[in-house]
Amino acid sequence: MKIGGIIDISTVDIPHKSAMVIFTVGCNFKCNFCHNKYLLQPKVGREYEINELINLIKTNELVNGVSITGGEPTLQHDLLELCIEIQKVGKYLSIDTNGSRPEVIKKLTPYINRIALDLKGPLEPEKLKNITGVNVDLKKIKETIEFLNKHQDIDFEIRTTYIESLLNSEDINDIIDLLRNMGFKGSFVLQQYQFSEGVGEEFKQIFSKPEHDLLVNLVKPYKELDLPFSIFLRDEIVGYSIIDKIFD
Ligand code: SF4
Repeated sequence: MKIGGIIDISTVDIPHKSAMVIFTVGCNFKCNFCHNKYLLQPKVGREYEINELINLIKTNELVNGVSITGGEPTLQHDLLELCIEIQKVGKYLSIDTNGSRPEVIKKLTPYINRIALDLKGPLEPEKLKNITGVNVDLKKIKETIEFLNKHQDIDFEIRTTYIESLLNSEDINDIIDLLRNMGFKGSFVLQQYQFSEGVGEEFKQIFSKPEHDLLVNLVKPYKELDLPFSIFLRDEIVGYSIIDKIFD
């Protein structure tokens, strides 16, 4: 497996858990705001044997979880094998994905505990192309969501990073409508975009951080709605909070 970096312990990648984070190399999207652009270069990092990764996980007694992120982890040919071996170790296992490879996700579900799916925007071809830099197969994203909806044993989070120059309140409304119509029952997280060095200086002015008040106003219309899923806000003020608590 091609790995670009490993964080031994993180308390922000999986809610309420300490986790080791494994960053895989390569992605099939080309989002300009990507925080981990270095991972999009095929030459970064190195190949790890599954045994080597399992030894690192086994001996890391500080964490009770493992988060595999990227890049797009589902592009790794031996991801399934790694998930099977991590399950044997007994750590809680979370996979990040952009949702474009349902055929891989379907094979992983017996061995994982959580999926965090980055829904880049409403499922509209031009909109998603503008955000991701590629033609996204909308049917594949829907297939991933529909499949995971049927697996109540998997903690399923769908999250959207809010970037003012790419999204607006109508888009958030379209996403909420889509999830409601699809019978989504997990957690939807609206998260604040923040510039980091990984994005690149040239994009600093193009993508600005939305302020807390703007994000609160975006989620406010949904606090009284009887939705089959929970809505969370993740930003620098509230951390990670269900919206009901923000408006208490
Ligand atoms: S899908 Fe994620 S990892 Fe891939 S380019 Fe976009 S932000 Fe980066």
